[in-house]
Amino acid sequence: MTVTDGPLEWLALARGTLDRAAERRGDDAWLAAAWDDPRTRVLPVHEGRAPVVHEPAPALVFVPPAQAPDGDRLLLGVDADGTAYFTVAGEFAVEGADRAGLRRVGALLGDRDSGLLTHAVALEHWHATHRFCPRCGTGTRVAQAGHVRVCPRDGAQQFPRVDPAVIMLVTDPDDRVLLARGPQWPADRRSILAGFVEPGESLEQAVAREVHEEVGLHVRDVRYLGSQPWPMPQSLMLGFTAVTDETELRPDPEEILDAAWYTRDGLRAAIDAGEIVAPGPLSIAAQLIMRWYGGELPNMPPF
Ligand SMILES: [Zn+2]
Repeated sequence: MTVTDGPLEWLALARGTLDRAAERRGDDAWLAAAWDDPRTRVLPVHEGRAPVVHEPAPALVFVPPAQAPDGDRLLLGVDADGTAYFTVAGEFAVEGADRAGLRRVGALLGDRDSGLLTHAVALEHWHATHRFCPRCGTGTRVAQAGHVRVCPRDGAQQFPRVDPAVIMLVTDPDDRVLLARGPQWPADRRSILAGFVEPGESLEQAVAREVHEEVGLHVRDVRYLGSQPWPMPQSLMLGFTAVTDETELRPDPEEILDAAWYTRDGLRAAIDAGEIVAPGPLSIAAQLIMRWYGGELPNMPPF
């Protein structure tokens, strides 16, 4: 089976199509005019969920500015025909629409809507959890249409926080893949290894450190293959492959409950037998595993 050599081609949460229009964020006249324009679309978000319809195809439901919840107007961007998109965090009720978040619909939405929801929930979480100046504790105010918070006392600026995390598919000399189970996971769930990047560390160093900490292996040929935002709540997942010349696994019992090598036939058999469940297609993990496997996995869980 041929494994493609290139980068990951499809990542559910990395499909946004809008121009983020960063040059408009400080233009108060443009922002006010956009808010007064009835073509402008506002996506209400509350606790990571937004209004969604499922028929005829999954899509976000927007409201005109006049029907938006009260709250800070966060500019998401402008589409090709000049329509502006904002999000506002707050309770909402949109007739005929369901409420759904990224885990449920992130992979089902079209490219534009997937990108909008990913951006909106990331901003919502950041504003909800970064209300005070980290220097002096004063309450901060929103600036730059939601992409900066400023301290009125000392002027310190805070930018939306993103935590880089590496996720890596490790293969052994027989091209078997390493899958493991994290401590909080259901008994049959398996995935590849992952971890947060530490201060003062490169991405490649983080891959090598995490693999060694979690299963005791040394890796080489760390290769970057793609990334996607993972605002659950505030990560950016960076996907890698790595190769090891070792096969003996020494899992850290604090982080890994079970770790094993799988051939392609062995993985298919384990999934067919219901012994393990692979990650769903929303995740970069699934895309890395499918790239190694050479196609879709059997019994892949629904989005
Ligand atoms: Zn301050």
